[in-house]
Amino acid sequence: MIYLDHAATTPVPKDVADEMYRVLREEYGNPSSQYAYGRQARQLVADGRQTVADALGCAAKNLYFTACGTESDNWAFTAALWQNRRVGKHIVTTAVEHSAILERCRWLEQDGYEVTYLTPDRDGNISADAVLAAVRTDTALVSVMLVNNETGNVYPVAEIAAGLKAKNEKTLLHTDAVQGFLKVPFAAKTLGADFISLSAHKIGGPKGIGGLYIGERVRNPRPLLPGGGQESGFRAGTEATAQIAGFAKAVELRTEHLTEKLEHMAQIKAYAMERLAEIPDLRFISKGTAPHVLSVSMPGYPSQNVVNDLSDAGICISAGSACHQGKPSQVTAALGLEKKVAAGVVRLSFGPETTREEIDAAAEALKKHHDTRFPML
Ligand code: PLP
Repeated sequence: MIYLDHAATTPVPKDVADEMYRVLREEYGNPSSQYAYGRQARQLVADGRQTVADALGCAAKNLYFTACGTESDNWAFTAALWQNRRVGKHIVTTAVEHSAILERCRWLEQDGYEVTYLTPDRDGNISADAVLAAVRTDTALVSVMLVNNETGNVYPVAEIAAGLKAKNEKTLLHTDAVQGFLKVPFAAKTLGADFISLSAHKIGGPKGIGGLYIGERVRNPRPLLPGGGQESGFRAGTEATAQIAGFAKAVELRTEHLTEKLEHMAQIKAYAMERLAEIPDLRFISKGTAPHVLSVSMPGYPSQNVVNDLSDAGICISAGSACHQGKPSQVTAALGLEKKVAAGVVRLSFGPETTREEIDAAAEALKKHHDTRFPML
């Protein structure tokens, strides 16, 4: 099988799975227990937090474990809107955020919040100036992702953070860095966001574990899950020790020779662009600089058919920003693509282990689809 869908999820390296198995079998104590088994589990959670925090460039006390990126995104909203409940009920975000954000915003609109959704330009970019121009005196929260999961565009979060100080110093800033963590260089300390969402399964970790950085400007964050006091009382529930160990091991592995890994992914992406350019009429949808995401379209060839054909050939790609049940994704819609271009969007995404041979196979399969099927639109 050729796996080219690393933005959806990533293969779990054997060392990560082994470490999780070891924890499940040998270190299954509850971190809240007072005997040695509990202390051992507590230490494991503390070590895991330190490892992830080091990679994120923050103090361990600012990093909280959650169940996934979606939960981190939602908690950031809960905490920010609670802290700024007297600032106002206005939120600024983008029209190309992950559904975790957009769906939360739709609910908030029903609760009386006003949300400004910024649309990107044709290259998928959103400027810091556009974000800052939308901020008002009653803006409680700005939420702009670090890397878009469908286009690979990197958004100017540090610039937004710097500009917010002058525009409205009370406004809190959240960034969904699920596709940015260990894919583009940044550190929590210098990024300047008040909340940063992470997810382990995008970097070789297990599903079911994420992280949320909460910065110093957030006083006494609104607990996501009140309960037994875990995660400093803010996100209760017995810690998922095996998942935390897996997350930490994945971070440890990914950060080894990270620069070389990112360089490799960028080269793979460049090579994929070279090979796919051989397909007649193929359009490059993503113009982003993130090294792992490449969205393209064969105009008129419905993406689901492309994905199915490649799947039959043992190649996994995704219908990325394509039509879902006849409706274009938020990203496709926001980019204002022509209908037949939007209908044909597929996403290839890469990891450190992706090879040129795998790209060759995908390029051949896409070309074969183009040459043997008829466009439907
Ligand atoms: N945010 C972005 C940008 C993502 O790409 C994803 C996953 O696809 C998520 C959030 C959600 O993360 P999780 O699957 O851990 O809930």
